[in-house]
Amino acid sequence: MTNPTEKIAVLGAGTMGAGIAQVAAQAGFDTLLYDIKQEFIDTGLGRIRGFLKGSRERGKLSAEQEQQILDRLRSTTRLEDCQGSALVIEAAPENLELKRDIFKQLDSICRPETLLASNTSSFNVTAIAASTKHQERVLGLHFFNPPPLMALVEVVQGDRTSPATIDTATDLMRRMGKTPARAKDTPGFIVNRIARPFYNEALRILGDGDAAVETIDRVMKEAGNFRMGPFELMDLIGNDINFAATDSLYQSFFHDPRFRPSPLQQRMVMGGNLGRKTGRGFYVYDKK
Ligand code: NAD
Repeated sequence: MTNPTEKIAVLGAGTMGAGIAQVAAQAGFDTLLYDIKQEFIDTGLGRIRGFLKGSRERGKLSAEQEQQILDRLRSTTRLEDCQGSALVIEAAPENLELKRDIFKQLDSICRPETLLASNTSSFNVTAIAASTKHQERVLGLHFFNPPPLMALVEVVQGDRTSPATIDTATDLMRRMGKTPARAKDTPGFIVNRIARPFYNEALRILGDGDAAVETIDRVMKEAGNFRMGPFELMDLIGNDINFAATDSLYQSFFHDPRFRPSPLQQRMVMGGNLGRKTGRGFYVYDKK
């Protein structure tokens, strides 16, 4: 029987969940990928296979290693299957009520020793944990996009998260090859709070008609030495997810104008122009 300390479950097979599951399987953990529908799992697994195939073709992975990673990945549409996991990482959409409901269910399904982590970008970990009876084992593990390439993970301690939970999760993140950084349970933690003005000001420059999308991105890359421009990054993140994060910070800071969301971004979301995942955002993407 597999040691339960080696099992990790990831909830949500979207942009982040699929990437986190890949990271866990690559690090040698038995990994379970959950989503509410098989078609979402298939899309997520397809992305993982594509990533691994690319790594093999570039000589970074042998065919045997690729197969071993895929063999460590299982999937399910039954939340109860998370039961034997040492750690469950939730990467469902950025919606507080949805997350609270998932954690409430996990709390009754999983043993008290199972660590329950949310990959939330902007919500209060304490507010998510409040839906559970065992708040001491709930924490934030905030990965960055794309998880297989980004080393940083913010490890967030809620008001009632135990120090032992933080220590165990920090150790697991190191074993997953990540660089954990402890962060307080404040809106946006560290990185997303700093990132809000970056996106917002770019959206204002565009909205005021002062510069085009391509110009802003090019200037930031060429002059600012950023790897991606703000619009490329918003399309990668998903405009729905990014808008929800900005709105959440705006609410959390009691409508501080520094965090006011852009109507332009809201229109992108309402129009279904979510970025790479829908093939159209600030740029148009070829699905192939
Ligand atoms: P996404 O929209 O790409 O994927 C979300 C997935 O969750 C979908 O596959 C969806 O089917 C699934 N889902 C829906 N209801 C669910 C449920 N009840 N239980 C489990 N899964 C469910 O979103 P994403 O970009 O992967 O974001 C997921 C989380 O990660 C959010 O909290 C987001 O704020 C956070 N995050 C996102 C980024 C990013 O760059 N996109 C970065 C860091 C953190």
